[in-house]
Amino acid sequence: MAVKQAASAFENSPDRRRVALLGATGSIGTSSIDLIRRNPDAFDVAVLTAHRSAASLADLARELDPDVVVVADEAAHGELAAALQGTSVEVAAGAAALVDAAREPVDLTVAGIVGAAGLEATLAAVEQGNTVALANKECLVCAGDLVLATCARTGATLLPLDSEHNAIFQVFEAENAADVEKLVLTASGGPFRTWTREEMAAATPQQAVAHPNWDMGRKISVDSATMMNKGLELIEAAHLFPVEAANIEILVHPQSVVHSMVAYRDGSVLAQLGPPDMRVPIAHALAWPARMETPVERLDLAEIGSLDFEKPDEARFPATRLARQALDAGKGATAVLNAANEVAVEAFLSGRCGFLDIAALVEAALARVESDTIASLEDFRALDTEARAVTESLVKSGS
Ligand code: NAD
Ligand code: MG
Repeated sequence: MAVKQAASAFENSPDRRRVALLGATGSIGTSSIDLIRRNPDAFDVAVLTAHRSAASLADLARELDPDVVVVADEAAHGELAAALQGTSVEVAAGAAALVDAAREPVDLTVAGIVGAAGLEATLAAVEQGNTVALANKECLVCAGDLVLATCARTGATLLPLDSEHNAIFQVFEAENAADVEKLVLTASGGPFRTWTREEMAAATPQQAVAHPNWDMGRKISVDSATMMNKGLELIEAAHLFPVEAANIEILVHPQSVVHSMVAYRDGSVLAQLGPPDMRVPIAHALAWPARMETPVERLDLAEIGSLDFEKPDEARFPATRLARQALDAGKGATAVLNAANEVAVEAFLSGRCGFLDIAALVEAALARVESDTIASLEDFRALDTEARAVTESLVKSGS
């Protein structure tokens, strides 16, 4: 198992944890900073990165005083450098600078970049042997074997931040792994859980990003609406935990209170519950293997009254079937799935395709792109580039 049970990752670290926040301006980054801000004696922020939002990044840098800040987009360098003039913060820009900053040896790297764009930086943190709190699930979908082989080589530990995987991590008895019958990934069902295919055909980006329970970035919100998010999480779970994909189930649970479960062969089912607030799994990773205080609203089960569960409907939401198909196909098929999905989601958000086209485009790309095993970043880049080009041409041709 890539995830080590509460062992010694922080045993030798000083009292204050040095933290690198990759994707500091996003939803995961903001929730992480909220917790760090409330615990000024526990954390030192060493690295902050963002895509191109120089002004927000500069504000954070002035407040948190990191060693280095990086914008991935070189065009934003001037604005960031000007905003931080006179401070001691080192300012850098570009893809190579992002990877360099991710290589910084810290006590914890929060991998909060969205999409395959975060793979290289996350992999650099893993190469360094850092403990990585992994929100950027696309890394495992794109190159899970490579990331895990690197962890095994460098001794890096992955702590899952995704709420489902964090829930499983909290109740997975590593010493009894052979006694696990199945994992149950819960899914809210997203904003279109009760919609017909006809209704979904006319869904707008604004409707798709309005998630009923969680406040998240736009890409993962659309993934939740198509349920591709659960497909990506199925692949993520298959990499993180020693359980066959066939024994990982998806269960729709609209309240998002039970964050996932582990079923053991004695009939016991262990679940982790909590409010739908990412600060709970983030706090778990920030303090691991200890616990820390959070300001989240406490769960009031009497107030909630009842919890509902239902089987997923793959006729209306084919994305989970496609993810399972790609996982079973092996080699680089899940990287093709991810690339096609990223292109299709972007096309939907920019009005170039309809909502139902997202899964259709992914299915078409999977059928067209042959993939080999991904053993290196170069292998990944070649396949990712091809899958994106194929999907873009499918979007343009309207098929
Ligand atoms: P977001 O869009 O809110 O933030 C993304 C962050 O990544 C931003 O800081 C942005 O500047 C940076 N970024 C974007 N593109 C980049 C690029 N090309 N190069 C470098 N940096 C780039 O996204 P989010 O909702 O915070 O999600 C981040 C990751 O965490 C995703 O993989 C998502 O699936 C996962 N996740 C998010 C949540 C959530 O509640 N938001 C829950 C579980 C998992
Ligand atoms: Mg999740």
